[in-house]
Amino acid sequence: MTFPKQIQDLTEAFERLPGVGPKSAARLAFYLLHMPEPEVKKFGEAVLNLKSGIQLCSVCKNFCETEVCEICVDDRRNQRIICVVETPLDVFSLEKVGKYNGLYHVLHGVIDPLHNIGPEELYIESLVSRIAGEQVSEIILALNPTMEGEATAMFIAKKLQAKSYKLKVTRLGMGMPTGGDIQYADETTLSRALEGRRDYE
Ligand SMILES: [Zn+2]
Repeated sequence: MTFPKQIQDLTEAFERLPGVGPKSAARLAFYLLHMPEPEVKKFGEAVLNLKSGIQLCSVCKNFCETEVCEICVDDRRNQRIICVVETPLDVFSLEKVGKYNGLYHVLHGVIDPLHNIGPEELYIESLVSRIAGEQVSEIILALNPTMEGEATAMFIAKKLQAKSYKLKVTRLGMGMPTGGDIQYADETTLSRALEGRRDYE
């Protein structure tokens, strides 16, 4: 037995999302089918509108609706510290903790040779030129404690060392579980990791 094409199409679309298997995908499709039509329309519109009007901040590469994001233009923030993260979701998580007052730089991934992601695919060069042009005194490498995250942090640290900029390179302190993602860490853990940050060697 096969489902009507509309349901099948939507199920396949859900299946392409991370962490959604065929069963949950079908469940989601049927859930939407049972929802009142105006709500389904609203859902569809949210998906359709997702990409329009969103761009990358020309400075930190976070998603935003303007050329420069609200964090980068906020002159109450400490312009001398840049926290380097993998994804915009990490910015969101760190901002929720409310303990960090510096700027960010979003790499949009990590170096991952198995998936053909090299340094050129990430916003590393723009980070380096950003540091060259600004008065930066500290770079926090807040990458996830995974193998790829560590390798990426090491790559960036070496690159910065080679430029012999006068700045401190640090990493998040203890408390981040190995293999754990910043975006899933609770606020206490993140807050401790930020406060306990140590020099990157
Ligand atoms: Zn920005």
